[in-house]
Formats: sequence, C-alpha cells, structure tokens
Amino acid sequence: MLDQTGARRADVLVKGDVVSEVALPGELGRPAGALVLDAEGCVVAPGLVDLHCHLREPGGEEAETIETGSRAAALGGYTAVVAMPNTEPAASSAAVVRHVLQLSRGALCEVHPAGTITDGRLGRSLANLAEMAAEGVRIFTDDGNAVADPALMRRAMEYSRSLGAVIADHCEDPALTGDGCMNEGAVSSLLGLPGRPGVAEEVMVLRDLALARATGARLHLLHVSTAGAVAAVRAAKAVGVAVTAEATPHHLALEEDCVAGYDTSYKVNPPLRSHDDRSALLEALAQGVVDAIATDHAPHPPEAKQVSFCEAAPGMLGLETAFGVASTCLGLPIDRVLALMSWQPAAIAGLTGTQGGPVVPGAAANLCVLDPARRWTVVPSALASRSRNTPFAGRQLVGRARHTVLAGEPVVVAEEAQR
Ligand SMILES: [Zn+2]
Repeated sequence: MLDQTGARRADVLVKGDVVSEVALPGELGRPAGALVLDAEGCVVAPGLVDLHCHLREPGGEEAETIETGSRAAALGGYTAVVAMPNTEPAASSAAVVRHVLQLSRGALCEVHPAGTITDGRLGRSLANLAEMAAEGVRIFTDDGNAVADPALMRRAMEYSRSLGAVIADHCEDPALTGDGCMNEGAVSSLLGLPGRPGVAEEVMVLRDLALARATGARLHLLHVSTAGAVAAVRAAKAVGVAVTAEATPHHLALEEDCVAGYDTSYKVNPPLRSHDDRSALLEALAQGVVDAIATDHAPHPPEAKQVSFCEAAPGMLGLETAFGVASTCLGLPIDRVLALMSWQPAAIAGLTGTQGGPVVPGAAANLCVLDPARRWTVVPSALASRSRNTPFAGRQLVGRARHTVLAGEPVVVAEEAQR
C-alpha cells in the first residue's frame, strides 16, 4: 500500500463507503461474503484525481458522455475528475453546473465541474463566479482559450480570492498562436504547417503570474509545455506566488516530430513541443516545479479528426492511458507518480476530504489498485471512451490499474477477483 505517508505491506478492509481496517497481511479477518480484490504485486493507493478532462456533456455527446468518460476514468484508476466547462452550453451558470452534477449521479467516478471565468466563455465579461461557487465549483477556467483580456483576468483573480477559488488558465496568447496548428519551429517549416510558437505560452504564463502576484489569487496553469513556461513557474514559486502547474502525459512523452506523418491524433493545443521543451518539462516534474499530471482528456468523433491536419479538432484521449504512460515514460518512482496523479491534484482541487488522503481507518474508500508491472498494448477500439483519438494507439505500456473502488463500491474489478 502506498499513500502520502509512505509504503507498507498491508491488507485493507472496506465497509460501506469507508476504509474500516488496515492491517498487516493475514491479520485481517475476512467477513463472510466479502469481495476480495487481489492486489498481489500491486500498489493499493488513494484513487487518482484528474484536474483536467473534457467529458463533453452537455452538447458534445457524439464525442463523449459523462457515463463513457467516467468509465474511462475508472478504468484508468481515477476516482475523481474535474470536468472542463467548455461544453454546449458552457458551464457558465449555476443552472448548467447543477445539470452537470445531475448527469454525474451514477458516474463511475466523482465528477467535479469547473466553471468558466467569462460569461459563455466568450472572453467579454465575467461569469457569475459566486453562484457557481455556491454549487461547489472550486476551479474556474475558460480552457480551450486563454482569457485574453488582462483587465478581465485581473478582476477574475481579485474576485476568486473571496470565493476561495482557483483560477486556471489555458496559457496561449491568441494573437501569437493565430491559426497555427502545431509547434512553430524547424518541423513546422519542413511540413509547411503554420506554427503556434512556444512564446505564445510563455507570454501568457508570465502575464498570469504577474497578475497572481499582484492580486494574491490562487493560480493554476493548465498543461504547461515549454521550457520558458516552466522557468517562469519556477521563478514565481521561488518568490512565493500562489501558483501550481500541471503537465499532460502527451507533452511529457511525445514531441513535435510525431506530427511528421500529418496524423491528426497528434494534434493538440498547446501543441507537442520540441525535444528541449520536453526535457525541461521532465526536469520540472522531477523537481516539483510541476505539481500534477493531468490528462486533458479531449475526445473527438472520427469526423472531427478525419480531415486535414490544420482543420482537425485539437485534443487527445488520456484518462485510460495516463497511468500507463506516466509509469512507462517518466522514469519516476511510483510514489512520485502517485503524488503527481493523486494527492497533489486532490489538494489543488480542494478535494482532500474524500480524495487523495492517507489510506487509514475512517478515510473515504476511494482507492485504486495499480499493477506497475502489467504490460499492455493500447488498442483504440478497446477503450471505454466513445471516441478513439489516442496518440498512443499500438503503444506497449507497462503499468495499469487493476481495480478501482469508488466510495466503497468496486467499480472496476479485474477478472481474478473472487467472493
Ligand atoms: Zn486547454
């Protein structure tokens, strides 16, 4: 078993929706009728928490529903996800937030809706953050776009403080990205594709950090991907700015040359970056400058991807493959991977009451059982998502969730479990 207090060999007994006992192997009694989940060779841990996924409901049900997305999450070892608000309509009001919460009843993981910063996610005026906060929204973001207007962002940050909320930004300056569709650099020149320069991200990160410093707001930077961005985060943390940052499995594992075959499954915003950017990101992850691995799970139906590279919708699946990619590609010990995928994101999202906490008697039974040695191949048609746009198709990964327990209910159980 592994949690933020360390690793130990133990059996865990769950009763109702809580952990009731944790004991040395063999010392637990086995209540009659108890379901036994075999964790031999595995790590029992608090469930994974994703700060950033697109479940597409309402409005994008041809790509994903909360049901299919939450199943993908549970299969990936997640017990909680933060659902991005760029739905149709956008989660810009208490009414839409309540609708998402209603749709999430019966989901296979906790779904925590984020709300938009600007009304309708249009970037013109502030949304009613207070009424969404009253529904439990803790993270506000216009993800998909940055909040381009700095005065609006400043007001959002000032306002967020009184709500105890986190302002999260998709940092790419739209004036600099233009109609770019991949990282700007040697590869984009070679391919003849318009580029999105890394500096578009760095400029917006620097602006947001300055505003966070000036307002004292809690800032979370979504999917940082450039050397410049992580250098800025490192410097801001050193002077005490209240900032956290996430990186995605795809930015940590893949680089811009993947785009060379014009395969639209590699199209994403911010784009896959250069080797130097990825190296800086990995270093920042190892140093704790990056606080979380978040999937940016972004399902799209085939027709949105089966077009030219520039016309294709940006985004990739991530929930079912994230742990496998992290454990295969990052060279980090599993306790670090879990910190980045469970308790640190739980703290950022304000979910520590039920998610990411130590596995002790009385704790909410939101758990995953991860098999770090399990080899598997990513087969798009076998994924639970309604969409198929994974950049890891055909990849062999080492590490996979075996069981997932949500509020005491085994929502994912490997075949070998027995009564
Ligand atoms: Zn984004």
